[in-house]
Amino acid sequence: MRKFAIYLLASFFLAAGSGRALAFADSNPAIHLSVDATLAPQKILRVHMVIPAAPGPLSLYYPKWIQGVHAPIGPISNLAGLKLFSNGQLLPWKRDPRDAFTFHIVVPSGAKQVEVSFDYLESNGPAGGTATAKLLDLNWYQVLLYPAGSPAAQINFKPSLRLPSGWKFGTALPVESQSATEIMFQATALDRLLDSPVIAGEYYRAIDLTPPGEAVHHEIDLVADSEAALAMSPEVQKGLTNVIAESGKLFGARHYRSYHFLLTLSDHTAHFGVEHHESNDSRLPERVLLSPGAANEVGGLLAHEFAHSWSGKFRRPKEMCPPDFQTPLQTELLWVYEGNTSYLGDLLAARSGMWTADEYHQSLASSAASLGPGRPGRTWRPVLDTAAAVPATFTGGPGVGGWGSWRRGMDYYEEGELLWIEAAAIIHEQSHGQKSIEDFLRIFYGGPNNGAELKPYTFDELMQILNQVVKYDWAGFWNSRLTSTSPEAPTAGMEASGWKLSFTAEPTIPGRASRRISSTTFTIGLELGRDGVVSDAIYGGPAFRAGLAPGMKIAAVNGRVFTPEILNDAVEASKENSRAIEMLVIADDYYKTLAIDYHGGARNPHLVRIADKPDYLDELLKPATK
Ligand SMILES: [Zn+2]
Repeated sequence: MRKFAIYLLASFFLAAGSGRALAFADSNPAIHLSVDATLAPQKILRVHMVIPAAPGPLSLYYPKWIQGVHAPIGPISNLAGLKLFSNGQLLPWKRDPRDAFTFHIVVPSGAKQVEVSFDYLESNGPAGGTATAKLLDLNWYQVLLYPAGSPAAQINFKPSLRLPSGWKFGTALPVESQSATEIMFQATALDRLLDSPVIAGEYYRAIDLTPPGEAVHHEIDLVADSEAALAMSPEVQKGLTNVIAESGKLFGARHYRSYHFLLTLSDHTAHFGVEHHESNDSRLPERVLLSPGAANEVGGLLAHEFAHSWSGKFRRPKEMCPPDFQTPLQTELLWVYEGNTSYLGDLLAARSGMWTADEYHQSLASSAASLGPGRPGRTWRPVLDTAAAVPATFTGGPGVGGWGSWRRGMDYYEEGELLWIEAAAIIHEQSHGQKSIEDFLRIFYGGPNNGAELKPYTFDELMQILNQVVKYDWAGFWNSRLTSTSPEAPTAGMEASGWKLSFTAEPTIPGRASRRISSTTFTIGLELGRDGVVSDAIYGGPAFRAGLAPGMKIAAVNGRVFTPEILNDAVEASKENSRAIEMLVIADDYYKTLAIDYHGGARNPHLVRIADKPDYLDELLKPATK
């Protein structure tokens, strides 16, 4: 995911280190799963299942661990109306008192199957849901139960889907047949099914993105809340085709049958991207393709999610390959799964031309600046801990509840990217320019295309491959960086590559990475909305020292009613002023006047060249294709 992401697994067969294609396990009878989405505009999905079963106790699971999110957040509270039948007889069920995701029943003697029905319910809160009046994003983990006792790779499903009249759909899941009212999908193992979401809607468009000469099919499927929003410019289309062509050169291999970019454009869904092996489920605002920043926004997100097909899907940390969706994930290696993907996604966005070199630099500058100095969370929690803790901290998200700079968020994305830039610089330097990070990528992510194959790795195996490229104390390097509690962000790799972080009054180009940072973040240490509500205050920063806290609302600045522009003017003027910036704030219904002692003027992060160092950063941005 991009500060978000999904999916799943199967490890039993991998102990010997050999890869295994996820496929239909043909010996087991399939579970029939019918999803009726004709009420999707009312945010209701109706589920009916027929599960082959033998008489006796049976436990059914609702998927709990959602892989791309790396957390136990299966939406169990959205399940309602659960009824189970066998031989026409209603079966009593009991939820496991120790695990709300497990249901126990007893299958009566003589029965050969159990029928299950329930509704999946949603209401679109402020965070957005997965359906709107005009479209649906269906993840199969929302709408099924599965029997305990077998690995997910050995449980077969035969899924079908009904959509509102006239809606079309896109998915990587192979279709068996289709009528006017129902889509029948090919039988699929449970792990593959949960890795194959479907998007559908009244306004739908598919565009072939397969680069010339490329054997594997690639396409983008779009659904939107309006017909107009589907208009993709030729530049964006060409850019995405370039991303695919560049990925072929970068990795030297593909590991999927075909690939679908599934893009939802809506202001009523949440916005994020989640990776899958043969697709990605990415959701952006409705009019993003019509905006001037379309290439930056779409390119950054889709290149990241696409890179996950190699990093996170084909190669996945061994402890993130459990046999089913109930077994906890161990997430310490997310600095590879997400950190290496952040590095690769941004590299592909730049090589494809969807980002300019300037935009790539700006993204790195914002990442580095958001890590430190001045972000005290890194002095008590190493980046490795941000990865290890994510199953428990994910639901809060970065900054939710405020004081994100002290809690520390999911820094394994940004810090991971900086560390992989450092690894690239070390390979370049140690090999005297004879080897590059690409040699590592081609070994780690290479090999024949066996379809959606999963090849787990451990820390030691990763170190072995790095040593195969260049002999170095790689374990020592990673261990020291990953456990560091230095107040400084790890910018050594950027600097060895000829660039350093600098703060100037010049505005940062608005891009994906800089979007969540408001212009007062690096000055008075305040993040706020246009309405003046403080979403966060940097712990220990000037606004914090003046008494500001998340949730307060700024009513006035220097005696005048608040607007973001008035505040920016005051910050800019602070350089010439000996007076503090005076703020009238509303805190829990009380007015308070606070004085912010800041005199630094405007400050935005940028990368600047180190004059006497060769530019190795941009050297790596050069496209491999014409
Ligand atoms: Zn990701």
